[in-house]
Amino acid sequence: MNRQIASRHSIALGALLALANPVAAEETPLNALATVGMIADVAQKVAGECAKVSALLGSGTDPHYYSATPSDVDALAAAELIFYVDRALEERLADVLDGFRARTPTFGLASASFSEADLLEDPDEPGELDPHLWMDVSRWARIAPVIADAIAAQRPDCADAMADNVAALEVQMDALHGWVGDAIASIPEGNRMLVTAHDAFYYFADAYGIEASEAIEGISTASEASIGDIREVADFVIANNVPAVFVETTINPRTIEALVAEVQSRGHDVVIGGEVFSDAMGDEGTPEGTYIGMIRANTVTITEALGGTLPDWPEALQAWAQEWRIAP
Ligand SMILES: [Zn+2]
Repeated sequence: MNRQIASRHSIALGALLALANPVAAEETPLNALATVGMIADVAQKVAGECAKVSALLGSGTDPHYYSATPSDVDALAAAELIFYVDRALEERLADVLDGFRARTPTFGLASASFSEADLLEDPDEPGELDPHLWMDVSRWARIAPVIADAIAAQRPDCADAMADNVAALEVQMDALHGWVGDAIASIPEGNRMLVTAHDAFYYFADAYGIEASEAIEGISTASEASIGDIREVADFVIANNVPAVFVETTINPRTIEALVAEVQSRGHDVVIGGEVFSDAMGDEGTPEGTYIGMIRANTVTITEALGGTLPDWPEALQAWAQEWRIAP
């Protein structure tokens, strides 16, 4: 077969395929990439079949500390749309992400979704924002319409379907927000103290009435915790009679173990109340590997360890619970 015939043949075949499925090219899901699972899960729900959203970082991975691998750079290069939270979270990825901004629509969702007044400041670094926005469900819900607009810019035919998805998601997020608030409110006053490995819980505290949130490391995990940091938090635990402290899935538990040892060595009682998901969701294929499940698991762990009682799981989230075979 000479080249000309081959080429005519391809055109004929192409035309035939186009007839069979006239909008095939338009319907290819957009290849979207998010840094963390908390974005990817929400974005996939917003996108439906209009995009395939992957997360760069898996469970147990600390986004403050993570640098791009060569395969991450390949994935970013192949992506048609990129989402991240903010330079204050993906500290070591930010420059790489900036490098893609000129060729691929790239959204830092903290600045794209929130005004300055909605954001908390890093108390140790005046002027720097606290990026842990997903800890307040009502705040995190606000990334959904921004994501929908970003996808619709490349898939305008998807706008209506995505508006429905955003509305459905908002109902779920509303219900989850109310449930978390009720759970934390059930903790006896004076016990609503959240002591963790790093300062990821200021938005959680702000939204749900946690009286104080203390951590061994600051907003960033980039610097090592010192003995002085551990002693300072031990002082807080003792002064406030905090009954339980929490390890985080993305951080080595040894700093919290050292804290417990320090408090106990001074004759006070404190236990490790469990493991919370701060900067990454749980394993894929588990309930905690979803945004709703991550927030639910944290709330269950915190509420039970600090002496509260869990409210009934909301009606609007029964379908989620059934999907994961969680008894209501
Ligand atoms: Zn963090």
